[in-house]
Amino acid sequence: APSGGYRGRFAPTPSGPLHAGSLVAALASWLDARAHGGTWLLRLEDVDRPRCVPGADRLIVQQLATCSLLPDQPPTWQSAHEARYAAALQRLQAHGWAYPCRCSRKAIDAAIAALGLLRPLHGERIYPGTCRPPGRLGAGSGSGSGSGSGSGSGSRAGAGAGAGVGVGVGAPAWRLDVAAVQQALALPSPTRWHDRRLGAQQQLVALEVGDFVLQRADGLWAYQLAVVADDAAQGITHVVRGADLADNTARQLLLQAALGMPTPRYLHTPLVLGPDGSKLSKQNGAAALDLHAPLAALNQAAAVLELHPSNGPVPEALAAWVAQWRQRWCASGQA
Ligand code: GLU
Repeated sequence: APSGGYRGRFAPTPSGPLHAGSLVAALASWLDARAHGGTWLLRLEDVDRPRCVPGADRLIVQQLATCSLLPDQPPTWQSAHEARYAAALQRLQAHGWAYPCRCSRKAIDAAIAALGLLRPLHGERIYPGTCRPPGRLGAGSGSGSGSGSGSGSGSRAGAGAGAGVGVGVGAPAWRLDVAAVQQALALPSPTRWHDRRLGAQQQLVALEVGDFVLQRADGLWAYQLAVVADDAAQGITHVVRGADLADNTARQLLLQAALGMPTPRYLHTPLVLGPDGSKLSKQNGAAALDLHAPLAALNQAAAVLELHPSNGPVPEALAAWVAQWRQRWCASGQA
């Protein structure tokens, strides 16, 4: 297959500087792009504003540059593309595949407890579908007709209510009606996909995750929607990211199908574990990368990716790893 069309990206959330764990994903996605002779982009995922730390974005760009991981185009910020996410949500609303939800966390927990069977996976709540419209399209569901004042709590807002997306006080969250999408598009369930490292994967999204959030009640765009809209808008063909995100992939596949967007290939990299055995993260005290020792940091990341250590200098190390990566992950039929 022609590799010239390869477009990959590293998409960190600027919630802090890069650490040993996030550098693994950065290095792997850069190596995969270089090994394919492709394009590598840097996208700062700053839609989850409360998690973002001022200045972390510029620090990440700088850290990557210090490691000679240079994007082929200027970095982009998700906060500059909110119209893109609004358009994607409107498209889903127009199909009747998104519905408003005013459940509080407490209400969701109570509903989960009442159902008894459902257990939160990875600490995430499985949404039990409390606000899902009872009848799908065809049942003449439109009771609210116009989008009106936007204050109507009962507006089911199947189609056409997209005009009311402007979020104010008391706005609802919007969720994807997973079963409706699967039914309308005749998508198989479980959702199956192939990971280049992990192999065959599957998830019963409706059961294991539930109807997930697209836009939060506070107006913030959900990662799932933003990442799918951006990967499509940027023509991303290959996603290489940490294994902690593998669990999101089935949701993203569903959204891609619902929005008529292509599905990239996926490779999820091994995680770096912290001293307590959990995923290394800013939350459990991962130290920021030492900008004075980029080769040491890169060697650490390379070891996680099972690449040979290098004595440097950095450009030579990277060149050697590109060659190793190509052999390992880009063999014919593997691309
Ligand atoms: N922004 C996400 C994170 O930092 C990664 C998104 C992705 O690579 O799909 O966890």
